Amino acid sequence: MPKQVRKPFKACTKCKLLVPHEVVVCPSCGSSSFTEAWSGMVVIVNVERSQLAKALGIVKPGRYALKLGT
Ligand SMILES: [Zn+2]
Repeated sequence: MPKQVRKPFKACTKCKLLVPHEVVVCPSCGSSSFTEAWSGMVVIVNVERSQLAKALGIVKPGRYALKLGT
């Protein structure tokens, strides 16, 4: 088993949205700053009904990183 597996997504450093590596501009906030140093994935389907989305300040449905940085 390799020690480090390449993550399938990178995280927007501004809104924590997880996007595929080929994405250049964040579809959520328009930022072009991404990091691969993230951990914990949360999928928000219904923003209005999700307490987690409220707690994380998420306003759009999608995949988000719980934590940025190493
Ligand atoms: Zn973003």
